[in-house]
Amino acid sequence: MGVTSPIYLDHHATTPVDPRVLERMLPFFVSEYGNAASASHGFGWRAAQAVEGARAQVAALIGARPTEVAFTSGASEAINLALLGVARAGMPGRNHIVTQVTEHAAVLDTVSALEREGFRVTRLGVDEAGRIRLDELARVLDAHTLVVSIMFANNEIGTLQPVREIGRLCRTAGAHFHCDLTQAAGWASVDVDALGIDLAALSAHKLYGPKGVGALYVRRRRGAVPLVPVSFGGGQEGGLRPGTLNVPGIVGLGEASAIARDQGPREAVALRQLRDRLHRRIVEGLPGVRLNGCPDRRHPGNLNLSVDGVHGEALIGALPDVALSGGSACASASASPSHVIAALGPDRGRAAVVRFGLGRSTTVEETDDVAGRFVEAVTRLRAVARPGHREARAAGL
Ligand code: PLP
Repeated sequence: MGVTSPIYLDHHATTPVDPRVLERMLPFFVSEYGNAASASHGFGWRAAQAVEGARAQVAALIGARPTEVAFTSGASEAINLALLGVARAGMPGRNHIVTQVTEHAAVLDTVSALEREGFRVTRLGVDEAGRIRLDELARVLDAHTLVVSIMFANNEIGTLQPVREIGRLCRTAGAHFHCDLTQAAGWASVDVDALGIDLAALSAHKLYGPKGVGALYVRRRRGAVPLVPVSFGGGQEGGLRPGTLNVPGIVGLGEASAIARDQGPREAVALRQLRDRLHRRIVEGLPGVRLNGCPDRRHPGNLNLSVDGVHGEALIGALPDVALSGGSACASASASPSHVIAALGPDRGRAAVVRFGLGRSTTVEETDDVAGRFVEAVTRLRAVARPGHREARAAGL
């Protein structure tokens, strides 16, 4: 199979909708367009039934019960609801929140808003692989800790956090554990109960579903989490998240979850091999390239590299037919190193940072092609940036 341009390697930013997902969604735009809250006719019943089917599919993906899943507009909203909702519900004597510096802005900014409201916040640093130190977490947890928010997989460097151990420490401290599953749901085998997760956010557009829909898992079993709504209106989603349900989107998230449950872990094995092959080809062709993130415990499609001797924007610009990111999707427009790269050590952000995000449709031909183009572009840019070369050009040589 030949390579067609452009090549999409930005699957952490978003994924294409899987055709099987789109097919399931389409009737809910044009023929089954009922409001899932309309109980007086078949259009409403069928929409409600489809929503409940999707709820069961999402729950099955993460080992939850359907009653523990509420639909939202995406992971950002789910995270806001989890953290603000648990903080406002409160627990006597507990006003301490723990998170880590490499979280997504949806967590960091929500926690900062709660800090302004009077909550005490601890932001854990990470080691050079991007992992929190469990002894440090154990040290900061106390009888006042209300909630700990640590992600499963990082969106920039792919590093996986020791989620099971974090769950255990939270349980011992009597604190709720919120885990952002946005970059993990779809390929990782996640069992929220076994991992001790109490609250979790995920997003359809990161797992080959549509944009604008996500879900929040809230533990309702043993150790149920008290959570209050943060927006008000109709009684949808048990009163937790009001507003007319996005039925086609929810059906899409359900189908994407079912596909991910079926083929995600298998896909992850192939993705990891492809990703490692891309990495190998780049480092064989170029000196001065370092991996950002954990070498072994990492998102299987993630390859984040610091490249010495070139400018990040120039490098991305030299590869116009490859959709890559210079950092996270959210920070890619900014020239300064992202907060995630900066957290790994002072020298990382001085080099150009490039994130490759491989996905379901990425082929070996594409990665080999990209590796070749990447090596060629860096070699060319380094030659141009060499002082002797600049002087020669200035002298018209
Ligand atoms: N959390 C992580 C780790 C992400 O990567 C993202 C999106 O980039 C989000 C949360 C926000 O997701 P959404 O776009 O569904 O609001």
